[in-house]
Amino acid sequence: MEPTLRVIHGGKEPARELPAEPPPSELSGWGMYPRVQGRQRLSENLERITEGATLTRGLGRSYGDASLPGAPGATVAGSVLADRLLAFDRETGLVRAEAGVTLMRLNRLSLPRGWFVPVTPGTHWVTLGGMVAADVHGKNHHVAGTFGEHVRSLRLRLADGRRIEVSDEHERALFRATLGGMGLTGHILEVTFQMARVPSPWIWQESEQVASFEAILERLADAGRDWPYTVCWNDLLNDGPGLGRGLIVRGRWAEPGEAPARRPPWRSAPTLPLLLPSWALQPWMVRVHNLARYLAHGARVRHAIAHPETFFYPLDVVREWNRLYGRRGFIQYQAVLPGPHDHPRHRQLIATLRRRRGDVYLCVIKDCGAEGRGLLSFPRPGVSYALDLPVGRGTQSLVDALNELVIAEGGRIYLAKDALTRAEHFRAMERDRLPAFQAVRDTWDPERRLKSALSVRLFGDAP
Ligand SMILES: Cc1cc2nc3c(=O)[nH]c(=O)nc-3n(C[C@H](O)[C@H](O)[C@H](O)COP(=O)(O)OP(=O)(O)OC[C@H]3O[C@@H](n4cnc5c(N)ncnc54)[C@H](O)[C@@H]3O)c2cc1C
Repeated sequence: MEPTLRVIHGGKEPARELPAEPPPSELSGWGMYPRVQGRQRLSENLERITEGATLTRGLGRSYGDASLPGAPGATVAGSVLADRLLAFDRETGLVRAEAGVTLMRLNRLSLPRGWFVPVTPGTHWVTLGGMVAADVHGKNHHVAGTFGEHVRSLRLRLADGRRIEVSDEHERALFRATLGGMGLTGHILEVTFQMARVPSPWIWQESEQVASFEAILERLADAGRDWPYTVCWNDLLNDGPGLGRGLIVRGRWAEPGEAPARRPPWRSAPTLPLLLPSWALQPWMVRVHNLARYLAHGARVRHAIAHPETFFYPLDVVREWNRLYGRRGFIQYQAVLPGPHDHPRHRQLIATLRRRRGDVYLCVIKDCGAEGRGLLSFPRPGVSYALDLPVGRGTQSLVDALNELVIAEGGRIYLAKDALTRAEHFRAMERDRLPAFQAVRDTWDPERRLKSALSVRLFGDAP
């Protein structure tokens, strides 16, 4: 740890005993599919409650089963109460924090001081531990890589109980396997990482209507050359000539001269109060919504000074919006297809979706840049598709078909979103990287004490 770091908050007295074992409760990820019974220990003393726990989870914002216990009734540690910022260097932007610190809190503390996380996912309701374990990427992956590229070191609790500091200098293989390792290599207790300096707390944003799927990909490639933040939203429910049309949004931090003098006010978002019945959200409603969104933008290129919350976290405008899907839940299928934006494989993906009648309620397309350090991290150079699909009878076979295409095209899926991939498909897409990851687990956790529902499903762990 750099000696220049200023300690913000000292440690607390360690608790003497483990809190009483919590009763079982229903746990799920953001997609509410699957749901499993598990025990979740919660305490501000993360070091203590990870003792003997099979996994640590954060805010449960991974969509599928990555944050769920490997067997019904098993105990996981919840990090959210361990949320102290331990040190912050105002000169260099180096931060050390407990794993349960939320991105929402970090942003609100850092942005008024001229710093921002170097990489942010599309929601601020995530913990630092979750960001490291999923090695999250953002709208700037093509220039900044994943969050893990900015992590200096991690403090871990290993499966055998030992506590250890890992970095590129110390236990490099374990460090790299933990970036994107979905909690399977150790409980992350603390994260030390580099923030990015920003010239103002506002975003200069440009958006444009794009009339076809091909044009969207072309515009995304062009925008990536000039803009640090790029993303496309597009409509894959419209079967007519409008299939795949959408909006491209480009952004950069505003210079002080372009920005309003006042700091952006932070809003508190309303919460969707109820779990809606599963029939309440129908494809025709999404079609109408998509059409309205597309037309409302208009044909002109729009410029705006945007609040960072609306630019980075448009879905956080309503909390618990996942309840829209009802108890059936939904999955987000996210895959990256390698290579150039004009390759026919992109059209094949859309053709597979339409042939299988996949009702894509949301489609977000992003650029992926160079591969990072994480042994199993998701991004690789190419185009990433994130597709929200309500869970129904045809969802498993649709995921199978998409995965077959992804394997044939040399792509891969994002584990933080996955719920339905089959082990053989996962092994096929990860045949080059999986042996090295499992070798790290063999070294540090040969008995596979750390596991999750996802690792039982995909990595062959015993429940
Ligand atoms: C609306 C929305 C938008 C999103 N957009 C993006 C995006 O743009 N880019 C992107 O990359 N992701 C995105 N995500 C996914 C999200 O960033 C990741 O799933 C993230 O891991 C969730 O963090 P969490 O704290 O909720 O972790 P959880 O969901 O609770 O856990 C995720 C994984 O991290 C592990 N983990 C969590 N904490 C620890 C810890 N302390 N020690 C060890 N392992 C731990 C868990 O075991 C699990 O495997 C999005 C999710 C949502 C809901």
